[in-house]
Amino acid sequence: VESLEKLSHIESISLWYEHLESLMAIYLSQVPSARAGNVFPDVSLYDHSRIVAAIAAALYCYHADNKTLNVEEIKNNELDKFLLVGGDFYGIQKFIFSEGLGAEKNRAKILRGRSLAVSLYTELAADLILRDLGLPCTSLVFNAGGKWILIASNTEKALEVIKEKEKQINEWLFDVSLGESAFGITYITAAAQDFEAGRFKNTWDKIAEKWAEKKFKKLDLDKFGGEIKDFLDKFQNDLEPPVCAFCGKRPSDREASQKRKEEGRAICRICHDHLFLGENIVKKEKLAITSPDADIKGEKLLVPIFDSYQVSFTSGELNALAKGGKLYRYWTIALDESGNLAKDITVRPLAGYVPVYRQEDFYDDRILWTRKSEAKKEQMIVEMDEGKIKTFEHIAVKSLFMKKENEKVMPVGIPALGILKADVDHLGKLMSLGLKREEYTVSRLAALSRQMNQFFTVYLPYLFMTDQRFQDIYTLFAGGDDLFLIGPWNRITELSVVIRDKFTEYTCHNEEIHLSAGIAVQKPNTPIDRIAEIAESALKQAKKNNRNSITVFGETVKWDDFKKMREFTEKLSSWFESGFINNAMIYRLNTFIDQAEREQEVLERKEIYREDMHCLKWRAFFRYITERNVGKNLKDKEKRQAKDEFSQVVKWIEAYKGKLRIPLWEMIYNNRRGGR
Ligand SMILES: [Zn+2]
Repeated sequence: VESLEKLSHIESISLWYEHLESLMAIYLSQVPSARAGNVFPDVSLYDHSRIVAAIAAALYCYHADNKTLNVEEIKNNELDKFLLVGGDFYGIQKFIFSEGLGAEKNRAKILRGRSLAVSLYTELAADLILRDLGLPCTSLVFNAGGKWILIASNTEKALEVIKEKEKQINEWLFDVSLGESAFGITYITAAAQDFEAGRFKNTWDKIAEKWAEKKFKKLDLDKFGGEIKDFLDKFQNDLEPPVCAFCGKRPSDREASQKRKEEGRAICRICHDHLFLGENIVKKEKLAITSPDADIKGEKLLVPIFDSYQVSFTSGELNALAKGGKLYRYWTIALDESGNLAKDITVRPLAGYVPVYRQEDFYDDRILWTRKSEAKKEQMIVEMDEGKIKTFEHIAVKSLFMKKENEKVMPVGIPALGILKADVDHLGKLMSLGLKREEYTVSRLAALSRQMNQFFTVYLPYLFMTDQRFQDIYTLFAGGDDLFLIGPWNRITELSVVIRDKFTEYTCHNEEIHLSAGIAVQKPNTPIDRIAEIAESALKQAKKNNRNSITVFGETVKWDDFKKMREFTEKLSSWFESGFINNAMIYRLNTFIDQAEREQEVLERKEIYREDMHCLKWRAFFRYITERNVGKNLKDKEKRQAKDEFSQVVKWIEAYKGKLRIPLWEMIYNNRRGGR
C-alpha cells in the first residue's frame, strides 16, 4: 500500500496504469490467484489479473462500439466478440548483423543498440495498435523474443486500425531496413467460450497456424513501398564514405555525421540512432518514450520510430510531459546488484548486461602482452574509458592468464572470443502440448511464457553482474527462449554449464524442459555475420544430437557428458601443472583419439584390410609413450604412481573417443605461450 501511494504519474492514467502493472508483478507474481476449493494454485494473481483485464477491456470496447452495453448481451458467450492479434518481427538476424567497413571498434556498441532497437520496434508496434484502439498495456498478453499477442475487440474499427498500422509500420521498416526486415500482423476471431479451459487449445492452435502461414508467405513487399524512391539520389558523394561505414547499406547523412564527428567516418541516420541507443543503454537508468513533438532536452533519435515515437534517456519526473499526454512510457531499464526493483515507475529490464571498463582494467597488463603492433596496443589503451562498453578486442584479451615462469610473469592462452548461442528445446511443442487440455488456459500459457522470458531477461543479467567469473560477458540478446552471448572464450565454456544447471533448477528439474547450445571460438576481428553463422551452425549441430546437447570445438555432447569433459580438463591441467605430462604428450593424445575413432569404424565393418591394422595398435602405443614420457621429472615411487594414474586415459578414450577433443582443445588453447 505504501508503494501504491508512491507510484508516479497519476496525471496520466495510461502511464500510471503501466506503473501499477509493474508493481503488481513485483508483489503478486508469486501469490496464487485461487486457493479455495479443489484448485491447483499454479497461476499467480498477477497473471490472472492481467488476463482478466485484457478480456474485460476488449469486451467493453466491443459492447460500447455496438451500443449493446447491457447484461444480457454481455453474457452472450457464443458471438465472436474478440480478436486475437499476433505480431512477429521478420529478419531480426539480418537487421542486427549487417556491417560496414572500418567501424570495427564500435561493433560492441552498435550491436547492442540494434538489439535494443529490435525490442523497441516489436513492443511499439503493439503500442501503436493499442493506443489507437484505446486499449491498456495489459491487453498485450504475450510479448517475448520478437513476437506478441494482444486481445482486441472484433469490430470494424479494430480491423481497420490493424490494417492501417501494419501498413504504417512496414512502410517505415522498409525504408529503414531497405526491405530486409518486416513486421507481420495476423489475427483470428474468438468468442468468450473459446477462452474456456478445454476449448482454448483449439484457439491457440488456430493462431499458431495463422502465424506459420503468414511467415511462410512473408509480406507482399510491393505493397509496402516497393522499390525505394530516389534511392541513388540520397547518396552524397562528398561524405566519406558515401555509404554508411557502420551498416554498409544506407546513405551517409550530413547531420548524423556531424553529430558523430568523433567516429571519423560518415554515418547514416539509423546507425546514428543505434549508436545512441547502444551507448546510453549501459549508462542510463531510465528510458522515456514520448510523442515525436515532445519537448525533450538533450540527445534523442534522429528518426522517430514508425514516425510516432521519440526515445530519450532523460531522468527526472517528467510530470509536465505526462500531464500533456506526450509521455507514453517511462521505464527503469537497469537492474542493480542488490536485486531491488524500482517501485515508482515501470520496470523493464532492457539493458541486459554488457561489460564496461572499470578501474581495475587500467591496471590489467594483459593487453600489453598480446601479439599486436605497438600502434594497435596504444589504440586499445586509448579506447579504455571508464563506464563505456568494452570492445570485443578487450573482451578477448581477458581469456589470457598471467603465469609466473622462470621468475618472469608471462601470459598464456589465446585471446579469442567465445560466442554462445542457445535456446530452449521444442518451445513450440511445450507451449502447445505441455499442458493437459483441461488445464490449457490463456493465463497458464501467459504465465509460462512470462516466466521463461524472465530467466533470460532478469536472472541472467543478475548472474553476470554478481558473479566475478562472468563480468566480461557481453549480452547481444537474451529473451523469449533464446540467448546470444559473447565473452572471453574460456569464460563462455565455463558459463554454458552454469546456465544449463541454473535453467534446470529454474524449471524444477522437469526432464521435458531443456536447452541446447552451440559455442564458436573466433578471433575478435572476425566479421560479425560470420561469427553469427558459425555459432548458429554449432547450435544446429547440437539440436541434431537429439537436443539437450552442446557443441563446442566442433564436437557435440549431451550436457552430462560435457560436465564429464570439464572434469577431464581439470585433471589434465593438474597433471600438466605438476609436470606429469608435457605439451608433446597432449598432442599425442589427439593422435590416439583419431586412431580410436578409426578403430571403431573398422570394427563396425565386416572385413578388415591390412592398411587398417595400424589404428588397432593405439593402446600399445599409448602404453609405450606413457612409459617413456610420463613423470619424467619424478623419482621412483612417484614416477610409478604418475604412470598408473595417467593410464586411466585409455579408459576415457575408449568411452568418449572424439568427445575428448573438447578437454584437449581447452587445454591446448589455455596453455599456448605468447598470447597468440
Ligand atoms: Zn548505417
